[in-house]
Amino acid sequence: MTDFKNEPLLDFSNIEIRKAFEDELEKIKRDFGKEYPLIIGTKRIFPDKKREVFHSTNPSRKGEVIATFPKATKADCEEAIRVGVAAFKEYSCLSAESRACILFRAANIMRKRKALLSAVMVYEVGKNWTEAVADTAEAIDFLEFYGREILRYSERQPLTPYPGEFNELVYIPLGCGVVIPPWNFPLAILCGMTAAALVCGNTVVLKPASDSPLIGYKFCEIMEEAGLPPGALNYLPGPGGEIGDYLVSHPQIRFVSFTGSMAVGLRIVEMAGKPHPEQIWIKRVIAEMGGKDCIIVEEDCDWESALSGVLTSAYGFQGQKCSACSRLILAEKIYDRFISDLTEKVKRIKVGDVRYFENWLGPVINERAFKSILNYIEIGKKEGRLVCGGKPGDESGYFILPTIFADVAPEATIAQEEIFGPVLAVIKAKDFKQALNIANNTKYGLTGSLYTKDRNKIEQAKKNFFVGNLYFNRKCTGALVGVHPFGGFNMSGTDSKAGGRDYLLLYLQAKSISEQL
Ligand code: NDP
Repeated sequence: MTDFKNEPLLDFSNIEIRKAFEDELEKIKRDFGKEYPLIIGTKRIFPDKKREVFHSTNPSRKGEVIATFPKATKADCEEAIRVGVAAFKEYSCLSAESRACILFRAANIMRKRKALLSAVMVYEVGKNWTEAVADTAEAIDFLEFYGREILRYSERQPLTPYPGEFNELVYIPLGCGVVIPPWNFPLAILCGMTAAALVCGNTVVLKPASDSPLIGYKFCEIMEEAGLPPGALNYLPGPGGEIGDYLVSHPQIRFVSFTGSMAVGLRIVEMAGKPHPEQIWIKRVIAEMGGKDCIIVEEDCDWESALSGVLTSAYGFQGQKCSACSRLILAEKIYDRFISDLTEKVKRIKVGDVRYFENWLGPVINERAFKSILNYIEIGKKEGRLVCGGKPGDESGYFILPTIFADVAPEATIAQEEIFGPVLAVIKAKDFKQALNIANNTKYGLTGSLYTKDRNKIEQAKKNFFVGNLYFNRKCTGALVGVHPFGGFNMSGTDSKAGGRDYLLLYLQAKSISEQL
């Protein structure tokens, strides 16, 4: 087998590739409004008169319905868990090689559908073309990486030899688990969490985010085509607030893998921690949550590289990445000049419907997010100096202009709470020590970046900048599978390091076997 390599993106500077992507965007419009099912074992359950439905809509064009799904009910959850638990008996006996091959075949199918899957995300969550393709490429990476990883875990594990005994350590799966991803990496994270669980021999009930059920459905189709047996993956779109607790607290659920907000994550940790009288295990919870990430820029930085790193990290996908830079900590000496140069660049960002390649900044995900971000902007106007943006864009979609607040105090609400939108709070630091203190002064600890040419500062930051993913002289977003294992400290989560060598351990348990010779 070849070594793992990250999947390339599509090169949109090539006019033919650009045209092909435009065609794909046009083609999938024909399916807008179509009805899709829940998947439980071999059954596909479509909307009917007896069932409530919900719509997946295009945030770039309010009211444009992309897809319609039935809302999964508690009875569907019960059935999906029953099927998942039953399927575990046989599925967990498949060899690691067979399970890895399912992932490799799925990666090949995804590769062929790279444009289609990316186009779905342009419409369903408002990613610009490049961000959408990066999402698909990351999903392919997870499949290829975890496929190779399970082969490594299934090798003979090193143990200290002991006279008169034959000893082994084998990794076995946990059981049937629930996977709950967010909408912001609607293919990559959903695929990564689900594929990791499956490749270890677990079965899964997958509840996608309600803003992105279509891309999740496309993933399930691919896994089926790749040879995943029925019942190993069950797909239950539906409102987290209504069915989430039921799934998480079910006594037959062995693990919960969640990525999303801190509020929901902490609720899951608490609910899963309460054993049900019928339960015979402690549930495993993998919870990756929010961030209030920052970039520190020192006076000795490479100026242009710092400007472009901040811009991409703060506004890429409208600031809706857990790793997004939402605090910029600037050295006193460069404070005014850096803000002025950054503002010039930010004002040139093209905002609009991401169906068109030229629009770099698209809409925020939905009306709730739109209102919440505008509310934070109002708070920001009291807590800092509005430098640019601060208002909605074209009202055909949920657009918010890229916003900078300067002169923000480290303790201010907009410097402490995750806003999850294109809003950057700029904070002044009198020296590097203070900059690090400000950086560490939130309840989160996900990503952080430092721009400096000073080796001493880099070494200090390595020791004292408390984040799960620390970067120097580059953006704080865009972690690559296998290259930058991803996960945060403190309230950012359980530091699971997705895309790293430790990740599959979270879905496995080790059995030590000893035989007297
Ligand atoms: P949410 O926490 O709102 O939702 C995440 C998932 O949880 C969705 O599928 C949601 O379903 C579901 N959910 C909601 N309520 C419950 C419940 N009571 N029980 C079980 N599940 C529930 O987060 P978002 O989808 O808005 O995602 C954005 C958040 O994710 C940000 O905070 C971001 O920082 C974080 N994130 C963290 C990452 C990391 O690696 N640390 C990576 C990416 C995002 P429904 O949609 O139906 O409500």
